[in-house]
Amino acid sequence: MTNPKSYPYEAPQSQSLFDRASVVTPGGVNSPVRAFRAVGGTPRFMVSGTGPYLTDEDGREYVDLVCSWGPMILGHAHPAVVEAVQRAVALGTSFGTPGRGEVELAEEIVERIAPVEQVRLVSSGTEATMSAIRLARGFTGRAKVVKFAGCYHGHVDALLAAAGSGVATFGLPDTPGVTGAQAGDTIVLPYNDLDAVRAAFAAHSGEIACVITEASPGNMGVVPPLPGFNKGLSELCAANGALFVSDEVMTGFRTSKAGWYGVEAAREGWAPDLLTFGKVMGGGFPAAAFGGRADVMGHLAPAGPVYQAGTLSGNPIATAAGLAQLRHCTDEVYAKVDAVSAEISGLVSAALAKEGVAHRLQTASNMFSVFFLDEAVTDYEVAKRQESFRFTAFFQSMLSQGVYLPPSAFESWFVSAAHDERAVELIAAALPAAARAAAEARA
Ligand code: PLP
Repeated sequence: MTNPKSYPYEAPQSQSLFDRASVVTPGGVNSPVRAFRAVGGTPRFMVSGTGPYLTDEDGREYVDLVCSWGPMILGHAHPAVVEAVQRAVALGTSFGTPGRGEVELAEEIVERIAPVEQVRLVSSGTEATMSAIRLARGFTGRAKVVKFAGCYHGHVDALLAAAGSGVATFGLPDTPGVTGAQAGDTIVLPYNDLDAVRAAFAAHSGEIACVITEASPGNMGVVPPLPGFNKGLSELCAANGALFVSDEVMTGFRTSKAGWYGVEAAREGWAPDLLTFGKVMGGGFPAAAFGGRADVMGHLAPAGPVYQAGTLSGNPIATAAGLAQLRHCTDEVYAKVDAVSAEISGLVSAALAKEGVAHRLQTASNMFSVFFLDEAVTDYEVAKRQESFRFTAFFQSMLSQGVYLPPSAFESWFVSAAHDERAVELIAAALPAAARAAAEARA
């Protein structure tokens, strides 16, 4: 059935750019998931964004449910962020010296998140987790790191290991280029399984430097922690002399004013030792951070012996953008994002139910994703059982009707405070045909 509002499937300008890009850039993209390999078709090359909308090279507008993979919580080209950037850029783009913006952004983070006593600014989430792990190893004098299958912490060598579940499985590298030595100190465990963590601590007594986990995972689709899981991790770490590193690159300043810490830990009265941040705190620029206990952070150079540095760390444009965005992320903004997320996710689930499509809508505050299966998803093994081919059909239908979803069934969807009534109506209008396409899809 043809939706009268369908865009033609072809995207000639994007295709032409993708062809050129594929000559000069591996796979035609600078970050793999952008290439649409999981869903097929032509990746859309975007030229501009305003509020909840993106416009591609062929002049077509899309309601954006990716929001640059999380950062654009105020929507695209928010006037306050644009103005802060314009003001900053006119003063010079990088000085290689300390600057006021870094201090103010660090103060904003410390003020919002109680266990962050000190913070170091970096340029990407990958750098943040890589540095946090180095610091944890330097602080504890231990080598091993526990991570969970399905959790992504950036392309850090030691963390690109998700070698199956099972108690104390040693990480095997997931990619050529990561050596056995680099991944050999990584212990990969099933998510939401405290017994596995207990067993790992018993098997490697005195060897584990830290446990790192996504505060609430969004990189295997949205799979929130079971009640007590994060608290249990924190307690096990404390009991065994290891640090608990909560990766809030995705959830930080998005799932609440104080990120997932504000949703869960602050209410339960416990705290991670180190936290990592990125995405929202950069306002769409490369700014990220890691921070936590002052006694741990004090081990970083130049205060302490653990080396960490960056030519563009605390860049004045990035800090200006991040600060402007965070200052506009008020309680009202979070209430709006939460409400619009509930509205859109409810519409998606209702449309799929109407067509009899087996699915699970999973949410973590205002992050959500849909799994095409009929059981609660608590870890990566379950997530992988979904019928991804249904997502592909759903995705293509939504795209052809002007709604831009993450091009993979294993990603969180993101909304912004700029997603208004019109954006919601456009999504609602596209859903019936997309749900039908999902119902009719064959593997
Ligand atoms: N940690 C988490 C939880 C993430 O979701 C990501 C990126 O998606 C990263 C770390 C890596 O951040 P970046 O892509 O900025 O290096």
